[in-house]
Amino acid sequence: MLNAEKVVPTTCPYCGVGCNLELHVRDEFIYKVTSPFDSVVNHGNLCVKGRFGYDFIYNKERVTVPLIRKQPQTPGQRTQAFDRSAWREVSWDEALDYTADRLVEIYQRDGSKAMAVYCCAKATNEDNYLLQKFFRAVFRTNNVDHCTRLCHAASVVALQMAIGSAAMSNTAAEVSDCDVFILTGSNPTENHPIIALQMKAAVQKHGAKLIVVDPRRIEMVNYATLYLPIRPGSDVPVFSAMAHVIFKENLYNRQFIEERTENFEAFATSMEKFTPEFAEQISGVDRGLIIEAARMYATAHNGAIFWALGIPESTHGTANALSLINLALLTGHVGRKGTGLNPLRGQNNVQGASDSGAMPWHYPGYQAVDNEENARRWEEAWHIEPGGLNRQRGLTTTEILAAVHPGGVRALYIMGENPMMSEPNLNHTRKKMQELEFLVAQDLFINESGAFADVFLPAASWAEKEGTFTNTDRRVQRVRQVIPPRGQSRPDWEIICDLAKRVERRLNRPNSAYWDYHHPAEILEEMGRYVPDYAGIRYDRIEKVGLQTPVPTPDHPGTPYLYGERFPRGRAKFHPLEYIPNAEMPDEEYPLILSTGRVLEHWHGGTLTRHSWMDDLFPEALMDIHPADAARLGIHDGSPVRVTSRRGSIVLRAKVTTKTNIGVVFIPFHFREAAANLLTTDALDPQAKIPEYKAAVVRVTPA
Ligand code: SF4
Repeated sequence: MLNAEKVVPTTCPYCGVGCNLELHVRDEFIYKVTSPFDSVVNHGNLCVKGRFGYDFIYNKERVTVPLIRKQPQTPGQRTQAFDRSAWREVSWDEALDYTADRLVEIYQRDGSKAMAVYCCAKATNEDNYLLQKFFRAVFRTNNVDHCTRLCHAASVVALQMAIGSAAMSNTAAEVSDCDVFILTGSNPTENHPIIALQMKAAVQKHGAKLIVVDPRRIEMVNYATLYLPIRPGSDVPVFSAMAHVIFKENLYNRQFIEERTENFEAFATSMEKFTPEFAEQISGVDRGLIIEAARMYATAHNGAIFWALGIPESTHGTANALSLINLALLTGHVGRKGTGLNPLRGQNNVQGASDSGAMPWHYPGYQAVDNEENARRWEEAWHIEPGGLNRQRGLTTTEILAAVHPGGVRALYIMGENPMMSEPNLNHTRKKMQELEFLVAQDLFINESGAFADVFLPAASWAEKEGTFTNTDRRVQRVRQVIPPRGQSRPDWEIICDLAKRVERRLNRPNSAYWDYHHPAEILEEMGRYVPDYAGIRYDRIEKVGLQTPVPTPDHPGTPYLYGERFPRGRAKFHPLEYIPNAEMPDEEYPLILSTGRVLEHWHGGTLTRHSWMDDLFPEALMDIHPADAARLGIHDGSPVRVTSRRGSIVLRAKVTTKTNIGVVFIPFHFREAAANLLTTDALDPQAKIPEYKAAVVRVTPA
């Protein structure tokens, strides 16, 4: 029985900063959120979402009883049903038996390739570990992915190619130890507000120099020593030109290169063509600024690079990220406190979901699925016969949808994600959702994707269950049950175990993979037995303060920064690069470039924040457009505009602002009424399979 009045420490359910919260509870009702001043992550600071955005828990539209569609849905005829009258309320037994029957029917008929699952960067490590285990161990498929594919997949691929590990190398708060830091493709004021505060303090209190490289004049430009207003998609020329200058002016770190890297000669040769003049031509950035930025970063004692989705969300996202890695290797600004390569993770647990194996090419701990030794290890872990696990790489999120057709993917299980808002080219996504044979949604609300489902499994919110999140700088922190689950909702991990057992019984494999956990702590311990970075993490060790992975042993104190001694792949590898234009370039018909992203008050597909007070603070989509473009097109601040790309068209109001540069418009992707992803392209980076969200070309007209 929960106490009548209490204050419970937990972790914010929104962004990757992972702020420490105190939930104040009276009579099982959360009435206030504060933060402890001694928090090592956020020192008592919170942004508006963490402070006030928890009320979605009590929203009257939340679904707290299992639902099955009244009308059976058929491929091609599947419809969206937001209205509860299209669903009937059922018991958990009926919902799970129905789900198990349909999944088993499809699996036995069409095999592993017909099954796919979207795990969830908002769910706990334990939830994600179990859901990927369910699909791998029971349905023998690696068609397992989550929204990291749509955010940092290219950063992950590039870092693994060059270094052998994909996490942020340093702790975000170490920005106060930098004397120069580069911020690119990242708007922390809106997306990582507490890290933005730390960056501002680094500049104003500690005298750090900030170099902002971004196509938008974001708020952090006000704190920058240098601002490089780059054209979308010209990252490789600009950062490679900086490398060119550093090399030509002999500012590189020869000792670091000789002792800790390889492939330098090939890289140096490839840098020849990236002159500042060439970069200026492609990027629109004055060559003098590029030279100055190169000198500033190279001559720093501690230089760091922070980036977010403006770098990886590109058809050349892997090359973009490699251009940043090359810079850090060239100068030796990695492997020490206050330096590093820091891809800021967006969602609260995108790092943890990836660590937990919610990926098509890797088991937990980034162990490749096509490696025989790894497959044997996980067969042993999950009590599966030798050779039972699938050795083929699975499909990514976008590939899963593309494969929805007879003979391809037929059943999709979505836990907490919303591809009907977050995938690119939504008209194509809609068609694919309609063509599914069976769709399961496990969530708090019937969102744009769940509205297509056959069955809805009501999940407990983060405040109603136990678990862990891993934040952007690899800190594994506790999530605590503060109130009982609303209605009949259940923690995700419990739903998965219950369903997995029912499926295994139908397949005559009774409980072979083990689903009888009593508490999520046991799930994390199971993962830690096979994932060395989590081997030393136990719930009792992270009661007060989280631990930063790697934590290889029970007495290991955690790892604030990586690569002090060695890189995971031994020597870090330079990669020669080429300039590759965006998949679409402006032309007469579509003369503007659309960039998409988030605003402070909202969160991704909007499933949570649009059911919260946050929606009152920012209730509609607005398109940022520069005054010069607006004047040329006859558009006024607040006037309605139609935005059209080769894939679709939306109507919304314009916000005329110098926050965006000439030739670039910006639309947040949280709003169903003007869904930005109807416009975006599903062209992919060939290595990371990440879509090009940041550079669709559009036409804007008064509406
Ligand atoms: Fe939550 Fe991120 Fe805001 Fe912190 S900065 S309160 S983690 S949304």
